[in-house]
Amino acid sequence: MQSIMDFTKSELEAQIQPKFRVKQLFGWLYNRYAESFEQMQNLPKKMQQQLAEEFIINPLQIAAKQQSKDGSIKYLFKLRDGHSMEAVLLKMRGTEYHEDGSIKHLPRYTVCVSTQVGCKVGCAFCLTAKGGFVRDLTPGEIVAQVIAIKKDNGLEANRKLNIVYMGMGEPLDNLENLIKAIEIFKDPDGPAIAAGRQTVSTSGLGKQIYKLGSKDLGVNLAISLHAVDDELRTKLMPINKAYNIEAVMEAVKAFPINARKRVMFEYLVIKGVNDDLKAAKKLVKLLHGIKAKVNLIYFNAYDESGFQRPEEKDMVNFQEFLLSKGITCTVRESKGLDISAACGQLREQKDEESQ
Ligand code: SAH
Ligand code: SF4
Repeated sequence: MQSIMDFTKSELEAQIQPKFRVKQLFGWLYNRYAESFEQMQNLPKKMQQQLAEEFIINPLQIAAKQQSKDGSIKYLFKLRDGHSMEAVLLKMRGTEYHEDGSIKHLPRYTVCVSTQVGCKVGCAFCLTAKGGFVRDLTPGEIVAQVIAIKKDNGLEANRKLNIVYMGMGEPLDNLENLIKAIEIFKDPDGPAIAAGRQTVSTSGLGKQIYKLGSKDLGVNLAISLHAVDDELRTKLMPINKAYNIEAVMEAVKAFPINARKRVMFEYLVIKGVNDDLKAAKKLVKLLHGIKAKVNLIYFNAYDESGFQRPEEKDMVNFQEFLLSKGITCTVRESKGLDISAACGQLREQKDEESQ
């Protein structure tokens, strides 16, 4: 049986009449976190029964969770076919300035979601890649990660949060389901998470970047660049053979970006590999003419990686060089390092590990 969360509102409207029932249904699913159709009291009894015969609601269960010292929480979800995947709730300090001069400190929430179990792309530095590819997640399995996390943390339905598609998997390798998930998330009758609060991170699947762009959904784009010359990039990311740096840049230039936004370039800094100023200079050249911001990421070392975390001073020099050239550049805090919830550390856990 399929989860009802796999469907966008317009897909459901084609099956369920009258249309306003679908609105009500969306309210129950995404704002009241209903777990059974019986709970949906304003739907006719008969409709509740029909829906229960055709669909399940929640396609995943929380199998384990781990809290990091920095407040981030990593969730291990079990899917109905026994596979598992992870998502992370990241809490950052946020400040709100009010007209009356008062200042409020509210945590800013970001949920890092998975789009596949495993990944086909096989980047040399990535822990997810080590487990190979298992399967795509359905739209409902993507959406339910955020809903389960909101519910588990008692976050009100209208609590603003951001979504980054940076968990397990390559989102653009599961484009159709990704697009449906984005649409469900942004639906004002559903989770109402504006597309501008959603960021799709990709290793650079050129063709799919064009396709996603042509949908003009309003999502933000992040490119995992990590290297500025093709030889090194191919070594780190085999996808570079299919879409080299130039091809990725061309695709980025064609992507529709909100006038107030920039494309994010993620640059994983690895000690002795890509952390020198020569690379920084080349990066500046590459980004010429693109409304870009750069996010430098400390490589998170793990036992079998064969790569090392960069020195802080090299990171600082790299960042300062970019800033001196007028490029917006941040260094990503390594959230959740102590619980392996940081970038590239998500992987499917076998039962023994998660208990
Ligand atoms: N597949 C997509 C999204 C998931 S990976 C992509 O590659 O963009 C999310 C980010 O984590 C990517 O930028 C990825 O390059 C980075 N990453 C992978 N392994 C890492 C590691 N060991 N340390 C730090 N970041 C890593
Ligand atoms: Fe896949 Fe992204 Fe990991 Fe590369 S970095 S293997 S694309 S999840």
